[in-house]
Amino acid sequence: MIHFYLLNPRMCQLGVRNVGYKVGNYRSAKSTKGIPLGFKTLITPSKPKVKAHITKIEEVIDTHSHSPQYVLIKRLNSIIWGWSNYYSTVVSKDTFKKVDSLTYDKLRAWARRRGKGSINKDKYWRTVGDRNWCFSTEEGLELTQHSATPIIRHVKVKGNSTPYDGDWIYWSKRRGEYLETPTRVATLLRTQKGKCTHCGLYFTPTDILEVDHIQPRSLGGKDEYKNLQLLHKHCHDTKTENDGSLTRTSITPVLN
Ligand SMILES: [Zn+2]
Repeated sequence: MIHFYLLNPRMCQLGVRNVGYKVGNYRSAKSTKGIPLGFKTLITPSKPKVKAHITKIEEVIDTHSHSPQYVLIKRLNSIIWGWSNYYSTVVSKDTFKKVDSLTYDKLRAWARRRGKGSINKDKYWRTVGDRNWCFSTEEGLELTQHSATPIIRHVKVKGNSTPYDGDWIYWSKRRGEYLETPTRVATLLRTQKGKCTHCGLYFTPTDILEVDHIQPRSLGGKDEYKNLQLLHKHCHDTKTENDGSLTRTSITPVLN
């Protein structure tokens, strides 16, 4: 019996990506035959990542010591929103609360410097609904709270096989109704044994898949099998951000 993790559909709405960390064989997830996959399938909160995020927030606050409050809020909101959603599957409510608390401390110091010792509570903080001490402007622009982000857990699905196990014809036919290149996808599914080469997890029938050129076409990569791989859409996004290419081959998602 194997376990795999079905991506919660809500993750997509929030723009969350599943992250596979490369790990050594010792901690690595194992395939059904006990072969290390090279990836952890269940991700735990990463202290260095939290620390780096807090450092980033501090830097932004420090470099905005003379900026209008709304400029600082907008800058912080984009960072907080992106980070919180990205990590909403792996961090706990406590982590979010801790980061909010550290952000609050830093903002108090920011306000105190501007107020020459006074934090000017009424100028920079407001009561919004039942929440006190909301860092916000008079016009109603509010600082995003990490802890306002819903924590999303992977749904653990038990199965006796990968959804694609052996049944390549069924899956390629099924996907073939929707895909522009069913043969290509079926071939890649088979050669990759139903797994995404980026994160090492099995594809599930609800995942959005994309064909990627390992070496981007814009960088001279050829349109041939040995240069193609099938990836989750979110894994493809991550890969594309890092391979110096903005081109991609999109495939229509299969909607169940
Ligand atoms: Zn993947």
